[in-house]
Amino acid sequence: MREVAPQTQVADDERTAQLIQSLSERGVRDVRGTFVDSSGVLRSKQTPLARLGAFNRSGLGASNSWAVFGADDLLCMTPRFSAVGDMRLRADLDTVVDLGDGVAWTPLNLVDQQGSPLPYCPRTVLREQMRQASTSGLSVIAATEVEFTVYDGDRQPLGGAAYGWTRLSTYEHFVDSLSQALNFVGAPVEQLHAEYGPGQFEISVAPASPLAAADLNVLVRVVISRVARACGFQASFSPKPFADAIGNGAHSHLSFTRDGRSLLSGGDGPHGLTSDGQSILAAYVRYLPEMAGALASSVLSSMRLQPSTWSGAYACWGLENREAAVRLCAATLGNPHGANVEVKCVDPAANIYAAYAALVGVARRALESPEVLGPETTVDPATLSADERNELGIYLVGAEHADVLDNFAGSEVMREVLGEALVETILAVRRHEADLVGTDGIAAVAERLTFAWSA
Ligand code: GLU
Ligand code: MG
Repeated sequence: MREVAPQTQVADDERTAQLIQSLSERGVRDVRGTFVDSSGVLRSKQTPLARLGAFNRSGLGASNSWAVFGADDLLCMTPRFSAVGDMRLRADLDTVVDLGDGVAWTPLNLVDQQGSPLPYCPRTVLREQMRQASTSGLSVIAATEVEFTVYDGDRQPLGGAAYGWTRLSTYEHFVDSLSQALNFVGAPVEQLHAEYGPGQFEISVAPASPLAAADLNVLVRVVISRVARACGFQASFSPKPFADAIGNGAHSHLSFTRDGRSLLSGGDGPHGLTSDGQSILAAYVRYLPEMAGALASSVLSSMRLQPSTWSGAYACWGLENREAAVRLCAATLGNPHGANVEVKCVDPAANIYAAYAALVGVARRALESPEVLGPETTVDPATLSADERNELGIYLVGAEHADVLDNFAGSEVMREVLGEALVETILAVRRHEADLVGTDGIAAVAERLTFAWSA
């Protein structure tokens, strides 16, 4: 995968011809693109390989209302997004990956009819935040863990023990096929294990620049879904597949350097944090209630963000604290990529590009206007009394869905980082989810959306 942020530029004819030639030699017939919408759902169009140049240059047409698709496929129109208006879905020729079986995948950029990036294109928003961070001397590396639930042909979650050998051995054909397919697409897998929930698995991948990491997250989900289907299974990326069991998170690890120096290690602060590193952690804790609109704003996110589920429900920070939304992983032998911060409250219903844009943007702002880091939380906050939590400033990030949306809507920081248009689209689709719950109840909505975030 590419390490530098690409532009939404058009490739020259020679380069396009070479790419078509090499993909054709590999047996690629069609190129299928993904646009992750504001509900976190993958929307897609494909074209025969021979039209890859047009897919990149002119793009494929779509109504701009694609930006306001609800997770249940209802269009959540706003004054800005209606039946009028067209946009182009443009293939990124820096990131075309052969999936096998004649199909290649590419992430899509949204541009207008003249080829200019649209303000609600999540990849463009992330790229812009990376550019601004880089102007401040800040460089970010990221990786998101992929948790998912696999169901058999009878729609029962796969069996086997949590973190156990038996889930891997009982479903070895699926696990081995998945490993082979991820290897085939060049995904830098670091580990795979059976997670705690029923039928749950997790895959970790190596860190990369945020745009490459977001693309990789989408690619891995595409591969998981394809392999599951080929085995007669179905993979769910719902934040809360079962009301009474642990959910699926998308824990996002970030590390930061400024002018080549790590900000999370080698400093004079707690656990080696530098003053810039402390400021970033402080900003994350402070702005989590506002950032939750980009990180975990589905109605099912709030169902997942409950105490004692290791989902990072509490806005606080702590070294290796799995109940803290901001978990610090220090520079030890056990962290081969160095010190990093794990933002645990993110889940797979988020638009991963918008989530990274929020995290990169808030980190950049923390360098521009330093924040003071509060005390570390060294215990499970659920073991403290409500008074003790209040005293320490520890609160729940997103257990109340209405608060998540209100805080997001009122956030100057999120409007500055994500732009008005993206905030508007996210609010439109998430308010619709809240309305659905009002009409049908949360259990019915959770059931209906079980496979909404699959590929
Ligand atoms: N599945 C849990 C979640 O919803 C996380 C478990 C873990 O710490 O890996 O975030
Ligand atoms: Mg996990």
